[in-house]
Amino acid sequence: MDFHKPRYTPMSRRRRIYEGKAKVLYEGPEPGTLIQHFKDDATAFNAKKHEVIEGKGVLNNRISEYVFQHLNDIGVPTHFIKRLNMREQLIREVEIIPLEVVVRNVAAGSLAQRLGLEEGTQLPRSIIEFYYKNDQLGDPMVSEEHITAFGWATPQEIDDIMALGIRVNDFLSGVFLGVGIRLVDFKMECGRLWEGDLMRIVVADEISPDSCRLWDIKSNEKLDKDRFRRDLGGLLEAYTDVAKRLGIVGENEPPRGAGPVLVKG
Ligand code: UDP
Repeated sequence: MDFHKPRYTPMSRRRRIYEGKAKVLYEGPEPGTLIQHFKDDATAFNAKKHEVIEGKGVLNNRISEYVFQHLNDIGVPTHFIKRLNMREQLIREVEIIPLEVVVRNVAAGSLAQRLGLEEGTQLPRSIIEFYYKNDQLGDPMVSEEHITAFGWATPQEIDDIMALGIRVNDFLSGVFLGVGIRLVDFKMECGRLWEGDLMRIVVADEISPDSCRLWDIKSNEKLDKDRFRRDLGGLLEAYTDVAKRLGIVGENEPPRGAGPVLVKG
């Protein structure tokens, strides 16, 4: 397959495969590929809270590209092939496993609430949790027993998912620590990638400040979607800060919206 010869199809004529809260999936240029488009929509509390934050999709596309490209480079399999433009990336089509896999290093959010832990408490070790992806049910937490009994994944697949989760956590923790950010927790999704008769589990969806908790090491300032969930404001500035620290966007670039930018000659 040649991924370097893009077939330019006007957006309107591309076949839409799926539209989620923050992304749209279109048919890709080759069989077995899809185009993942990052929207500016922010939702929380099972979409009860919704806002459009201009420029968020562009930043998440870049940050997620950074994470997935590096995961590919260190041999952690993902669905990511390459970024195509400001808002889109080419990905491999996978069969999404209907689980949200949450890996936690520090107590926050629902874990802090459920167990009465103070937010910011370091956990005795990294903890992996599974939630069943179902908006109508509000993504309920499930155990390995539920996952295998209802056939969402096999015991072997759960082992593979947990091993991937640990590797992604170690990689992300290191990368963020290097730029002065504490990785509190993150959510990842996995998919089954078929290669002939062989199937392997790969990391799918996105990994961005929408799906991670990222705190500045010194100030504990939140640089993630909690700024939106908790009405703290400054979400775009926080995501831009993360992108700058990772060296993805230039130091002097202002947060960019989706609109055209004047190029000075
Ligand atoms: N998360 C996510 N999507 C969800 C739920 C959670 O990306 O639908 C992420 C969230 O950003 C955080 C981690 O998973 O980094 C753990 O979230 P938690 O269970 O604490 O739930 P929350 O407090 O976000 O409702």
